[in-house]
Amino acid sequence: MEKKEKRKIIEIIKDLLLDKQKYEKLVKLASYAVLFSVLVVMTIMNVFKLSDTSQNYALLTYTTGSMAVLLLINFVVTLFSRLGTKICAGLFAFELVGMFAIFLVTGVPDGFSALWIALLPITSMIFFGRMWGSIISGFMFIVLILCFWTPVGHYIIQYNGYGATFKTRFPVLYLAFFAVAFILETIQIYQFSALEKINRINEGYSTHDGLTGLFNRKGFYDLLEIELKKKTYNKIGFIIFDLDFFKKLNDTYGHVAGDEVLIEFAKLIEEKLSNSLATCRWGGEEFLVCYVDDQIKKADLDEFKKEIEKHEFVSDDQIMKTTVSGGVFETNDKDFDNHKEWLKNADTALYKAKETGRNKIVYF
Ligand code: GH3
Ligand code: MG
Ligand code: MG
Repeated sequence: MEKKEKRKIIEIIKDLLLDKQKYEKLVKLASYAVLFSVLVVMTIMNVFKLSDTSQNYALLTYTTGSMAVLLLINFVVTLFSRLGTKICAGLFAFELVGMFAIFLVTGVPDGFSALWIALLPITSMIFFGRMWGSIISGFMFIVLILCFWTPVGHYIIQYNGYGATFKTRFPVLYLAFFAVAFILETIQIYQFSALEKINRINEGYSTHDGLTGLFNRKGFYDLLEIELKKKTYNKIGFIIFDLDFFKKLNDTYGHVAGDEVLIEFAKLIEEKLSNSLATCRWGGEEFLVCYVDDQIKKADLDEFKKEIEKHEFVSDDQIMKTTVSGGVFETNDKDFDNHKEWLKNADTALYKAKETGRNKIVYF
């Protein structure tokens, strides 16, 4: 397998593990498949023992055989249907408890089947989560104790091959398995919630600018693509703002003060030109605002430009002033493929604003 293909497969698996729904589906499918294989082998072994009439191998064979068929159905339905996945998981609780109860009651062979009950805590936690897994496991524990240590057992256990040691130690072993399953499930709950948190943060980093909190280019393009597909507008406009002589401001007051100006400027755009589609930090001291139809008019931009000219930016008791130039391009084109051309036109208009004296808004 080539390196590139391997990396692709690893990415797909990572994706599956990070998506809780897909992960749970995968775990269910794997559990059905493993249990199905085990039950097929058990059924074959039971068939070979059918001639032994000293114990009820017939009931055991029917039980493992029908459970194998049910698991196969669960597997196929889970693979193809979302609603079926839930229904199968619900039925699986009854199938599993029912099967283990029959194992316990038949006591075949020589009391061995009951050992499979040790699988219940981990399986029920995987399928039904910590609370329901604990309830189901607890229910089975009560059944175990009732059958082993009360007169109920005398009436329902068919072949009582359980010795006193087994009847004492197996419930303890079962509780140990339950405790381990409970701890693992708890750890997984916390791991998933931590992963989800990290994912949310990473998603924020990948689409937003760390300094101003505005969209970065990726976040902006994602949004633009979605909006353009909706096609619910007649006109779309792009404004590229560029602070004038920002290098000089940095040189005079320092980069930290320069950062404060950028943060404040971003807030002012969002506040004064709030009636827009999206605002993005295009890079450095350049900002891009996108709007549709008449959300932002020429008068609004002239007003904004004047407000920036008047605004006092403050950092550590230093008062700074700056001006802004802007280039605007409007179009009724809705094809995302042309976005580079539109932004180039807005940039050309900005260049003109800079060339003809700055502190002005120029339309392409
Ligand atoms: P013009 O009017 O032609 O736009 O002049 P200008 O000085 O604003 O433009 P120029 O492209 O020469 O300089 C941009 C400056 O912006 C240089 C760079 O140090 C500064 N800058 C870019 N990103 C940041 C940032 O994140 N923080 C700070 N403080 N400064 C930044
Ligand atoms: Mg610039
Ligand atoms: Mg500049």
